[in-house]
Order: sequence, then C-alpha cells, then structure tokens
Amino acid sequence: MKVEDKYMVRGYYPTIGIECHVQLKTKTKLFSSVSNEARDALPNTLINHICYGLPGALPKLNGEAVRLAAKAAYALGTEPQRFSKFDRKHYFYPDLPKGYQISQFEQPIILDGKITIYLEDGTEKTVAITRAHLEEDAGKSTHPTGADYSLVDLNRAGTPLLEIVSEPELHTSAEAKAYAKELWLRMKYAGVSDVDLYHGNMRFDVNVSVSKDPSTFGTRSETKNLNSFRSVEKAIDYEINRQIDLLEQGEKVVQETRGWLDDQLKTVSQRSKEDAHDYRYFPDPDIPPIVLDDDFIEQTKSEIFTLPDEWRQRLFKLGLDKQTVETLLEFQVEAPTDFLSLITQDEKTAKIYSNWVINTEIPFVREHQGVIINEQTRNNAYSGVYTLVSNGKLSSNNAKILLEILLENQVDYKDIEQLAADHNLIQENDTATLELIVDSVIADNPKPAEDVRNGELKAIGFLVGKVMQSSKGKANPAEVQKIMRKRLGVSDE
Ligand code: ADP
Ligand code: MG
Repeated sequence: MKVEDKYMVRGYYPTIGIECHVQLKTKTKLFSSVSNEARDALPNTLINHICYGLPGALPKLNGEAVRLAAKAAYALGTEPQRFSKFDRKHYFYPDLPKGYQISQFEQPIILDGKITIYLEDGTEKTVAITRAHLEEDAGKSTHPTGADYSLVDLNRAGTPLLEIVSEPELHTSAEAKAYAKELWLRMKYAGVSDVDLYHGNMRFDVNVSVSKDPSTFGTRSETKNLNSFRSVEKAIDYEINRQIDLLEQGEKVVQETRGWLDDQLKTVSQRSKEDAHDYRYFPDPDIPPIVLDDDFIEQTKSEIFTLPDEWRQRLFKLGLDKQTVETLLEFQVEAPTDFLSLITQDEKTAKIYSNWVINTEIPFVREHQGVIINEQTRNNAYSGVYTLVSNGKLSSNNAKILLEILLENQVDYKDIEQLAADHNLIQENDTATLELIVDSVIADNPKPAEDVRNGELKAIGFLVGKVMQSSKGKANPAEVQKIMRKRLGVSDE
C-alpha cells in the first residue's frame, strides 16, 4: 500500500496547508506607542494617527515584537533570520484605512521551520513550516443585523501578528487539528502570546484541496478565522466533502476565501481569492530592515523557556503515560512552567501531582467555570499539600479536600498545616494515641481479634476500619495496620 492510500477519501487525495495568525503579547502596537491591551477597551479608544493611517503619519517598529518573533523561531524548530524587511500589501477594506497592510513578503523573519505533531491515535508526524512573518492586524468591522450601516473599530489595527505558514503537508482533519494544537502549545510555552483562542489570540486559516492524483494539487479554498481546534477539524471535513461533491458532479472548485458558520457547521463563500500579484507588494520605505546581530540572537535564545517536546521527554521518563502528559501540557492558558518543574522533581511528585491535576483541579475548574487560578498561589498550594502528605500528616483523601479548599480560597497561606488543622484534616500519627484506640477496638471486638490471631488475616481490615471510625477518619491507616498487627502477634506483610 502506498502512503497516500490511507489518506484517500471517496477516491480523492486531500491536501491541507494552514496559516496561523498569532497575536504577540506586546504592551504596545507594532508601529505605534498605543496600548495593545484592547480586550476590555471601548471601541476606537486605543488609536492614534498611525492606526488611522493619516497622511504623513510615520510608523516606528516595536522592538519587543521583533524579540518575541525571534523567540517564536526557536519554538518553530529554527532560528530567526538575520536580515528581514517589511513590505506593503495593498487591498481595500473599511477596516484598513491606509489602504495597505505593513507585512513581510520577500524576506520574512522566520524561514524553514519544522515541528513534530502528536495525533490522538498515538502516531507522530513532522510538518514543515514554510515561513513566519511579522505583520500588523487590521481593524474590525461589524455589521449589525437589520442596520443599513456597518461599524468599524480600529482598536485592533496595528496589533502585532506573527503569521505562521505551513507547507501543504497535512492530509486529514485529525492531522490539521494536531498541528493547530501543537502550534498553540509551542506559542504558549515560548511565552510570545496569550494564546487565548476564545479572544482571538490565535486564528487559523485552512487551505484545502482535493485531487484524484496524489502527485498534483487540486484548486484550494481558504476558510478563514477559525478560532478553535474543533472548528479547524470540522471546517476541513466539510470542505473535503464539498469539493469532492462538486468534482463528482462535473463542476469545478474555485479558488476563493470562505467563512465558517459555527452554528451550522458549514463553510460559505465570501470572496474570490487574490493571487500575490494582485496585492501590488513593494518594500515599505518607512520601516528600515530588521538586522539581528549575534548578541541579540544569543540573548533571545537564552531567554527561551523549556518547550513542550522537552517537557514531554521529562514527563515520559518519570513514568507518566501519553494522555496524562498531553493533559498536563495543555491544561491552563498560560504556560505552567514553574508547576511542571515541581511535577518533574521525581517519580513520586510526577505521579501524585498529575493525579491531583487530573482528579481534583481539572474537575474543580470545570465546576467553577471561569475561575482563574493564580499560578504562584497554585504552586504554593500544591507543594504545601505535598509536604503534609510526605510527612504522613495528611491522608490522600484529605489531601484532595485541602487542595480544593486552597484552590477555592485563592489565598497564599503562610501556614498550610494550620489551615489543615483548622479544617480537622490532619492525620493522627501519635503512636501512644493510636495504641489506645487499637486496644479499645480489640477489646470491643473479641471475635474478629481472635480470628486474626488464628491466622484469618482478612479480619484485620474490619478492625482497622473500626479504628478509623472511632478516630473520625483521622488515624493514619498505615500506622494503624502496623500497631494492630503487632498487638495481635501477626507479622507485617
Ligand atoms: P495566501 O496568503 O495567498 O493564502 P500563502 O502562501 O500565505 O498564500 O499561504 C498558502 C497556504 O496554502 C500555505 O499554508 C500552503 O501550504 C497552502 N496551500 C498552497 N497550495 C495548496 C493546495 N493546493 N492545497 C492545500 N493547501 C495549499
Ligand atoms: Mg492566506
């Protein structure tokens, strides 16, 4: 069987390439000193003459955006280009007042990357990144239903974007979804973006074509502005089938831009697609080229955090399974790097912390929709609870209860042990106290005690249960076992 065969759908070979726009988390816009933190701002309040594109306005490049783009290069498996430059891309649209977008066309800041993607079926694949370039975002138009006017908000105009373009090497919606997820993880761990998909910090454009002959490409459609992994997957499946239907009916696929209707799970035509020459690109005379020297390159490289693949290796080595590892990496919008350092101390921390994340914190966050857990507070909570468990002061059950209290309160407690004591969660470890309870349980239950002495060890569980009951669950069960065995003259297991 040829490799292509497994990808064929109804006799056609699907091909997918993805463009992803990543909003870089700079304080100010790409070419002006206006704030880039537009999420909660009223429309048209974060704008100046540059965002408006007023005649004579002179843009000035934001160095921080260049630094973040350079970091992203490492996260895309390559290094930043030493020389790159800006070009003007012309098109006419109400949310682009100056009539062109400043972008990088001929010489982008990133070329020839590659990343490994991890599919849900457990397989892996390497995908080549053609390029990634810096550009400014446009404003935003809204079209109120029923109104005979449209509204333009320029707060987003000039937001720095990194557009990451993949080679057309993906062949299923599952591969595309895994690719989108991997980009999201890498941008998150590189610390270059807030990566909040819901707020449009990353948007995916999927290019899809189908062809009977795997050695030639069909005509592609481009479905723009997908902002969830699920919509990437669904839009591609829809497009593959739509295009095959067309071809089967003897019609042609047209090169066009399409939009995604999330409520109807379908794509719709928006406009026919320009080719590059229609944009009349030419070098932007206002922005000098970017030239990166050795010091800059070394500096940015040294600032890079640990990236997902390295975390994967460390977590696998400590015995965690694939699914747990992916859950840990994906969980939380911001990169939980300090937290992962806590987890990866040794096999025991890996096992216990990941168990708490999956069985306590994730259900907690689900239940308390929208709760934001401060990373520092969370790390303190986890390590505080872990210390109490290690000292035998907390049962595993009470550990989860305490963790929930800590996550809920969101306070940095100086003394977590005191908090546990206040909630009556501390385990009774005192030998003399435990011996007293054990003895009274033995006295109250002569029959099971006798059975144990006669070698019927099953009855130990019953007696230990009685001790737990009379200590109101606070006795350390392992200690109780030990004392019980000693008292009844049977050896430890
Ligand atoms: P544009 O901005 O005009 O869409 P780009 O070069 O920026 O052009 O992006 C093209 C994207 O489309 C890339 O991700 C590329 O891999 C993908 N692509 C190109 N040709 C095809 C095709 N025939 N089928 C699917 N994807 C394609
Ligand atoms: Mg495009």
